[in-house]
Amino acid sequence: MDNCSINKTVEKTDKQNIGDLLHFGKAVLEQNSNQNAESESILLLSYLLNKEKSALFLNRHLPVSPYKTKRFYEWVEQRKKGIPIQYITGFQNFMGLEFETSEGVFIPRSETEILVEKIIELIEMFPEKKRLSLLDLGAGSGVIPITVCSFFQKKGRDVNFYAVDVSEKALRLAAKNAQKFHCQNHINFMKGELFTPLKELNRSILFDGIISNPPYISHRDWKNLPDEVRIFEPPEALLGGEKGLDFYQKIIRESPKFLKPGGFLALEFGHRQKNDIKQLITENANYLQKVITFRDYYHNDRGIIAFKNSSENN
Ligand code: SAM
Ligand code: GLN
Repeated sequence: MDNCSINKTVEKTDKQNIGDLLHFGKAVLEQNSNQNAESESILLLSYLLNKEKSALFLNRHLPVSPYKTKRFYEWVEQRKKGIPIQYITGFQNFMGLEFETSEGVFIPRSETEILVEKIIELIEMFPEKKRLSLLDLGAGSGVIPITVCSFFQKKGRDVNFYAVDVSEKALRLAAKNAQKFHCQNHINFMKGELFTPLKELNRSILFDGIISNPPYISHRDWKNLPDEVRIFEPPEALLGGEKGLDFYQKIIRESPKFLKPGGFLALEFGHRQKNDIKQLITENANYLQKVITFRDYYHNDRGIIAFKNSSENN
């Protein structure tokens, strides 16, 4: 179908059925060289109509209101411009929960689900700890503290977070997500640079664990990021200095002051950063022991967990 005939179909009918719209979205996105045209058209319509994908296939003949039809055309147009699907629909599923997203805030990635799973496993290894206090540095949309809190809330365990971010926009979104999943009383959101807001408190806090998925893209990798990420997501959520290691240096250096003896540090990192981060730990953090790395679903090295030694003299 050429561009003209697609536009004609659109102009002719402001009322279409589900099947027509799916076909329209697929055709427009395919023309735009989108490799996932069909699945993205399905995903957009499924969010717009709030229907499962299977319900779309079973109800292809059902009419869609002129209002929703118009919205669908707008969404397809936005997608054609490269805007990430999650900014168009306003949602991203993470650990089975539908998180709100918003432009200017990092979109949660499936890699980070592994980090959350590791943290949950770690906490479950210590059932005798009835009350846990954790810190998330660079909270973004709030996925890490919210999924962990929500998991343990269902199990009747008291897991509490301090969650820090420099971005006001991110903190507003994270607070909204915390409310949505009833975790607002377990997460204390703070604005500022890494540990700074904690240093400004007039008391010192020690955590059972410090977690972070900091910005880790290097200058070299920045150029190779897909346009969708480089143009539309906030650079300050992605760029980690020349080698992508700036945040790890600071976090690894400062963590001992904020960790209880035996507490853990859990970090996501870029798939080529494992050795650099292990070296950073060896050179700067003799307070850390039992360093364990883990991989993501695609078998890329993706994260590290280390424990502060149990003696008090650090
Ligand atoms: N934790 C979220 C996740 O996993 O989806 C967001 C991770 S995103 C890669 C990194 C986050 O760190 C962004 O929300 C960004 O605003 C925040 N950030 C950047 N520089 C920071 C700093 N100096 N102090 C605290 N947060 C920072
Ligand atoms: N995994 C992200 C990406 O490449 C980067 C996340 C980060 O910098 N923490 O899109």
